[in-house]
Amino acid sequence: MSETTVEYAIIGAGPAGAHLASRLAEAGREAALFDPRGAWEKPCGGGLTTRALKEFSFLLENTSHPCKLIKHITIISPSKLRVTLKVKRPFAIYSRAVLNGLILDRAVEAGVTFIKSAVTNFRRDEGSWSITTADGGAVRARFLVGADGAASFTRRRLIGIFGVKDLALAFGYNVQDPQPAKETPEVTVVFQKDFTGYLWAFPRPGVMNFGVASKLGEQTSDQLRQTLGSFIRDYYGGEMPDPEKMTFFGAKIPTLDLPTWPTLKATGDGWALIGDAAGFADPITGEGIYYALKSADLLAGALLGQTGKGKRRKDNIPASTLPPYQQAADAYEQAWRREFGRDLEHASYRLPQFYHGLFFGHLMTDAMVWLARRHKGVRTVLLRALMGEQSYVTLKRDLLLRAFQVV
Ligand SMILES: Cc1cc2nc3c(=O)[nH]c(=O)nc-3n(C[C@H](O)[C@H](O)[C@H](O)COP(=O)(O)OP(=O)(O)OC[C@H]3O[C@@H](n4cnc5c(N)ncnc54)[C@H](O)[C@@H]3O)c2cc1C
Repeated sequence: MSETTVEYAIIGAGPAGAHLASRLAEAGREAALFDPRGAWEKPCGGGLTTRALKEFSFLLENTSHPCKLIKHITIISPSKLRVTLKVKRPFAIYSRAVLNGLILDRAVEAGVTFIKSAVTNFRRDEGSWSITTADGGAVRARFLVGADGAASFTRRRLIGIFGVKDLALAFGYNVQDPQPAKETPEVTVVFQKDFTGYLWAFPRPGVMNFGVASKLGEQTSDQLRQTLGSFIRDYYGGEMPDPEKMTFFGAKIPTLDLPTWPTLKATGDGWALIGDAAGFADPITGEGIYYALKSADLLAGALLGQTGKGKRRKDNIPASTLPPYQQAADAYEQAWRREFGRDLEHASYRLPQFYHGLFFGHLMTDAMVWLARRHKGVRTVLLRALMGEQSYVTLKRDLLLRAFQVV
């Protein structure tokens, strides 16, 4: 069997893997990208926040891959208070097959070798990696990247899978050709009592995407499916859509527990993890596409030597004396923690308070909606939080500041 040799092998062609492949190929580096599915309808809401669309402007510039641009978000609190926020900057909902296709097409156009097969094995062999695929192919690479999602095979083999406390369970339905529910493209988000998560209704071109996500182990699968069923029935005024038009999906989202963050590692000898495989998703909202793209960008910058050499290492070995891939790995570890790791860690710290804590003597989620109904400033902070533009470190302070302007 002949073996192809490349510099980088990237396992998984979701947003993280395909975007990294693009960046490397654009810089003239040889990369092989593996995925048995290509562009597929991954279980997901497909929501892209303002921050994601701003930083990765190629998404909206590409008009041949349609999305739905959202104009309003309605939030319903546990005690059924509701507020509708007007979305002034882009917030888009994509079919995941469309979004993945957009990012994968760019990678292929940039010159990536796309191998439509699953990686079934890899091993370290004389300073490089020997990789085999389900279709019997063999590739040798100098650097290995795991971009294979929340149930990452690469992660499992290199450092072990995430524990129950580090995951959320999400279920959903895609409903084809839904009845026109609302005049303007509107997203609905529903918070419930004693529930670490939320329900959503996301309109996509020709499809309504409904879902529910909650901390793994908190609700049984049956409970979650029942909650989701009632939500969809209510959404359509008491009647379920035609079952023939409904496609069920379910998957896990990394929502790391607070104690996991300080020791979280995304690199090792000749390898790195990005996106869900690294655990990079917002523990409060479940937003992961932005972090998939962002971690891919940061790793690309580190591998291409654009991120700098990083700070002094704990073992005091000067970074410049390390082998180049080790320098890149160090630079990436520091970059993801600096750019978004600390904020996500803070989100893990805030998570119990966000869903179960009290604010002005009411459940936080009730109080937020109550205050948002009355005060434009609170609506602005809430919208910024949903659009990825509000730091979790200052969220409580900013809400309090705005709330005290009212009382
Ligand atoms: C129900 C649900 C709703 C969500 N809604 C949102 C949302 O609205 N907005 C948002 O930002 N995030 C959302 N997320 C999170 C988001 O889906 C992920 O964070 C995002 O897809 C991560 O991208 P990724 O490239 O890291 O991994 P993935 O998108 O999971 O891609 C991994 C790829 O690896 C491939 N793969 C797996 N094993 C192998 C193997 N052995 N060999 C080769 N390839 C392999 C898979 O086929 C897959 O294509 C949601 C998640 C769920 C479960």
